[in-house]
Amino acid sequence: MPKIIEGVYFIPGQDEMMPDSHTCVIGNPSSKDLSLIDPGLVGKGNYKIDSIRKLGIELEDIKRVIMTHTHFDHIGALSEIQKKMPWAELWIHQAEGDPLEQGDERTVYGMEMFKQVCQMQFGIKSGSLTFKIDRKLQGGETLEIGGMSWEVIHIPGHSLGSIGLYYSPEKILIPGDVLYADHAIGRFDLFGADGVSLKDSLKRLSEREVKILLPGHNRAVTKLPTGYILETLKQWEPCLT
Ligand SMILES: [Zn+2]
Ligand SMILES: [Zn+2]
Repeated sequence: MPKIIEGVYFIPGQDEMMPDSHTCVIGNPSSKDLSLIDPGLVGKGNYKIDSIRKLGIELEDIKRVIMTHTHFDHIGALSEIQKKMPWAELWIHQAEGDPLEQGDERTVYGMEMFKQVCQMQFGIKSGSLTFKIDRKLQGGETLEIGGMSWEVIHIPGHSLGSIGLYYSPEKILIPGDVLYADHAIGRFDLFGADGVSLKDSLKRLSEREVKILLPGHNRAVTKLPTGYILETLKQWEPCLT
């Protein structure tokens, strides 16, 4: 389901041995001020770009990349995307943007073992996932982009700088890896993650009315039942300590 509504597009990830995050494009095409959310896994840049073109979207209209967070399966394809769109700005929450600029890759890989696996698998060198950030988000901003208003919600717990993007007129939430369909939530055992923060983040998300959920993995849901986030939180609460 690539087009969710006019101005919100969903490109499913193509998982390999490692997961490839889903990618969203937000903004009304007529605004020529679109944003790409989460490029995905290393090697998936061309697939994402082709999918965007197939939607009839002009690459020149994509003015920025916004990361829900900087895990490898979301940021791996960023340099491929940047090669195709060198003009695009990069917006990331400060808690992950600062370390990323300094070449601190602990959040990207989450754990030392995973770093070694990724570097072997993809031939990536230490320090190559270092990026200049054009705008560091804090959470609480309302982004007036693409003829729409998106609220930035800082939702740590899966990672330090995870953000959710919320579009209240259509009750759309892009929660990154904090929350998925089927009552699943993001893992909270990686670098910078913790269960108590994740619980608090889910609680704050549950205060919004959400009808359309576009998570980083598993599947998009367009008719989310009322109370879904709170119910998910209650199921997981005993583990979130
Ligand atoms: Zn992910
Ligand atoms: Zn993640």
